[in-house]
Amino acid sequence: MIAYLERFVPENDTDPIQQEDASDSRHDTRSPTLPDSLGIHGSSVESGPAAAAFASRDFGGMVSVRPLALIRPTGPEDIARTVRAASISAYLTVAARGNGHSINGQAMAHMGLVIDMRCLDPGFFELAPGGPSVPPSVVVSGGALWEDVLSRCLEHGLSPRSFTDYLGLTVGGTLSNAGVSGQAFRYGPQTSNVTELEVVTGKGTVSLCSEDENSELFLGALGGLGQFGIITKAKILLQPAPDMVRWIRLVYTEFAEFTRDAEWLITHPDGHSFSYVEGFVFVNSDDPANGWPTVPLRPDQAFEPARLLPTAGSVLYCLELALNYGSGDLPSTVNSVVERMIGGLGFVEGLEFHADVDYSEFLLRVKRVEQHAKATGIWEAPHPWLNLFVSKSSIVDFDRTVFKGILREGIGGPMLVYPMLRSRWDSRTSVVLPDSGDIFYIVALLRFSQPYPECAPVERQIAQNNEIIHVCNKNGLDYKFYLPHYKSQEDWKRHFGDKWTKFVERKSRFDPMAILAPGQKIFSRSS
Ligand code: FAD
Repeated sequence: MIAYLERFVPENDTDPIQQEDASDSRHDTRSPTLPDSLGIHGSSVESGPAAAAFASRDFGGMVSVRPLALIRPTGPEDIARTVRAASISAYLTVAARGNGHSINGQAMAHMGLVIDMRCLDPGFFELAPGGPSVPPSVVVSGGALWEDVLSRCLEHGLSPRSFTDYLGLTVGGTLSNAGVSGQAFRYGPQTSNVTELEVVTGKGTVSLCSEDENSELFLGALGGLGQFGIITKAKILLQPAPDMVRWIRLVYTEFAEFTRDAEWLITHPDGHSFSYVEGFVFVNSDDPANGWPTVPLRPDQAFEPARLLPTAGSVLYCLELALNYGSGDLPSTVNSVVERMIGGLGFVEGLEFHADVDYSEFLLRVKRVEQHAKATGIWEAPHPWLNLFVSKSSIVDFDRTVFKGILREGIGGPMLVYPMLRSRWDSRTSVVLPDSGDIFYIVALLRFSQPYPECAPVERQIAQNNEIIHVCNKNGLDYKFYLPHYKSQEDWKRHFGDKWTKFVERKSRFDPMAILAPGQKIFSRSS
């Protein structure tokens, strides 16, 4: 069997990830005997060009790595068998592919086995209603999309507590990173809102884990970049779902006032603040992709630049807030709660926008962006995104050098910047945060532009990202990559800092042959 598999594996596999041409058909091997050789009978195993093209592509659109085969599992046992089959070979690796929304090939496996997690028990939904002192929760498949989890929960009047901005991502994919949005200041990232996991380890065993049982596997897998196991099920904390959301945008000219207000809002006691706090930077111009037109929430609202002081700079800031409420709440009650909370804030008078929308419409807001971007070809273009966590102590410097300097003309997409609280994150998980202080900011540079030659070539956008990192390093800013991407173990070691030793220990315990998630390029496969 293994001799059969190794027929497809290149002899020199020491640098397993390479740029490859997805149309290269030299390795096309549609073979009816591949499933038999893997010992996987319930699921489909595909090695033809369509499967290879699917598994060698991601949202970033900059890396293409050809797999040996794509596995569509019917249950966790198929995944466990796949990992065990790979472990007998000297070279094979296994990558779980969530919805392929990584940027740098993290869910790919060069001549390895890619598991399409979307096929795994997509409808699995086991609700636990909760009790007086126990919050409700639901067990879902690791391959489920958050948008599907949300819609099933809403049928029961319930909702997850912590989200990502975009819900076309898988549960296992975001839990392997962190999963953040404007709710994280209150509930922490998605990794802080899961109480139990079912995981297939790199040894090919199916294990249940939680804080009390197999806690090292549980904590390691959360934010673990897929290094310790493939998450096949997750138990997610829920809360009663609100009906409506008051969605608000407030414009600032001064970064100091923007950060002061954002930090004040996220440190307010629960129940006395908004349900969601985010923010973004935009260009002080009428540029439709980067400037004033990106701020209003409804077509009948207009941004009036005359409201800005003449001293306003090249970039402006927008605080984005949301207040959840019930359909039985009177508009006057909602108005007075909002007024009380924003009354003392320092935004520009008259540059305040709001809209009342359905709870699910609010949570699915980026789906409309997706539909538009798909219609215009922007969704399929390369996305050299950069995501950073920057400590409060460095964010003013970051604003001065990056937002007001390098990015003063925008990036052709959102430039998010909003604060979160370290105390809402569990330091025992694998997630890495900046070194200092309780408050830190996420900076997300979400480049959406037409492919070259209509817009800057992707190389220029990558060079700009590199320049930003260079400036951060030169100025000694306290930051970490979110959704990190490195090529050498030295860089990974630096990234993890004092968490590296623990990370390596967990790897040798749960995936000693480094079979899993080779696209992260942290460890090399050993036999
Ligand atoms: P993939 O990209 O397929 O996989 C990511 C990594 O996790 C890979 O290494 C893969 O091997 C591994 N993996 C996948 N599934 C599993 C599993 N079940 N078990 C173990 N390992 C697994 N992130 C945020 O935090 N907040 C946001 O608001 C946000 N918005 C986004 C909007 C868009 C349009 C996009 C494209 C991405 C956004 N992200 C956001 C980033 C997102 O969290 C990552 O892309 C993440 O990787 C999830 O995507 P995925 O489910 O497609 O996983």
